[in-house]
Amino acid sequence: MKSAIRILLGAVAVLVLVIVVRTLSMSSDALEVPRVEIDLDEDAIAGRLAEAIRFETVSPGPPALRDPEPFRAFLSWVEQTYPLVHRKMKREELGDLSLLLTWPGTDPSAPPVLVTAHYDVVPVNSGSEADWTHPPFGGEIADGWVWGRGALDDKGAMIAILEAATTLLEEGFQPRRTIYLAFGHDEEIGGRDGAGAIAEHLRAQGVRLAWSLDEGSFLIDGAYPGVDVPVASINVAEKGYTTLDLVAKGAGGHSSIPPRETAVGVLARAILRLEENPMPGGVSGVTAQMFEALGGHMPFLYRAPLANRWLLGGALEALLGGSGASNAILRTTMAPTMLEGSVKENVLPTEAIATINFRIHPRDSFEEVVAHVKHVVDDERVEVRVRRAGNEASEIASTTAGGYRTIARSVAEVFGPVAVVPGLTVGGTDSRHYGQVADDAYRFNPMVVTLEDVEGFHGTNERISIENLAQATRVYARIFRNAGSPEG
Ligand SMILES: [Zn+2]
Repeated sequence: MKSAIRILLGAVAVLVLVIVVRTLSMSSDALEVPRVEIDLDEDAIAGRLAEAIRFETVSPGPPALRDPEPFRAFLSWVEQTYPLVHRKMKREELGDLSLLLTWPGTDPSAPPVLVTAHYDVVPVNSGSEADWTHPPFGGEIADGWVWGRGALDDKGAMIAILEAATTLLEEGFQPRRTIYLAFGHDEEIGGRDGAGAIAEHLRAQGVRLAWSLDEGSFLIDGAYPGVDVPVASINVAEKGYTTLDLVAKGAGGHSSIPPRETAVGVLARAILRLEENPMPGGVSGVTAQMFEALGGHMPFLYRAPLANRWLLGGALEALLGGSGASNAILRTTMAPTMLEGSVKENVLPTEAIATINFRIHPRDSFEEVVAHVKHVVDDERVEVRVRRAGNEASEIASTTAGGYRTIARSVAEVFGPVAVVPGLTVGGTDSRHYGQVADDAYRFNPMVVTLEDVEGFHGTNERISIENLAQATRVYARIFRNAGSPEG
């Protein structure tokens, strides 16, 4: 008996030792490099973003509904406001309203890079206009902030990119690699005409990019427990997108004599089954890369479950799966968004339709999503129709390649020590197009956001601080310089 207890205690001791060693070996240091000072007229930059916001470049829906006037006016404003950029770079309008600027490099053998932002914005939710502290298209500056639609998504980045390029041109800088600056006009509705046309144009010219940099994530401050430096979340992949319709048939007829089982009932059961049986997910692949890098910066207690997934993986995944935001990183998500039945309250539907939107994790494919849905619904009365095939998840960009290191270094030169963590974009961006012509596509805006700022995205009171806009400008300037270094 005694020896059994001794064996048990010994086993526990070994287990604890393994957990401690694994946890300690996961530790990582913040990236720290010499700081670089860049002098800017911050108020002037803020003033130009404010002007940019006043153009109502709204992407409401199909291109046919777009009013091209504000888009054209905005493009000619860009041309007048950034004359040096237009003098030193080749300017092309592609896809009608998107802009491609080519900044020629001194070394034609060095693979080019592309830095991009989009200038279309989402509409202001109707009914929310009065909730804006400053009007969404007023372009007002107050209390150290530039207010309005597009401040964060994504005109702020576009202005920062153009300001950074101007600053370097004024210093007589010429990049070693050719740098493309691309500004899309339809990202919010899929980017096919803009980024799609630009990517196609580059491909047709035989251009292969070493890397591209687009929106996606930010420098995140104060959101992760125990991490006392900002987290540069450089997204290395993007989820795919597809929408399926579940269609249940019924006999129709009058609602006064309903059958035992209705099309709506059959459909409801199918949806419930799907909600109860999500696509398998977990901390693996790009999701594991992310949590491992993040965990390295966390205190011991938070790090332990991440470093010991062999033991605690199940509990960890249950915990992460409980929140919508972290669940979206773990797996392919499904969201029922639209329901359709009969057209009249006293008529039984002949077809009940549920529209379900899926965001495909890089470990899954469109085919696997459809197979999963059919398998889980398991009801021949429910037909699965493809409403929109959409696109597969992106490739996963390298976290060791020059592009990743260039972005990370540039951020640390401006902001000081940062935790650099790869991440996954759960929505869609123009990178789905640019990524087609790039070895590595990164998704990151060099601006600090807090949880409060995130509410402005596609929401109310979107804004960016003048300091943030200036810091982003500095980071882009460093990216342009570092991209030319032999390892960049
Ligand atoms: Zn955006």
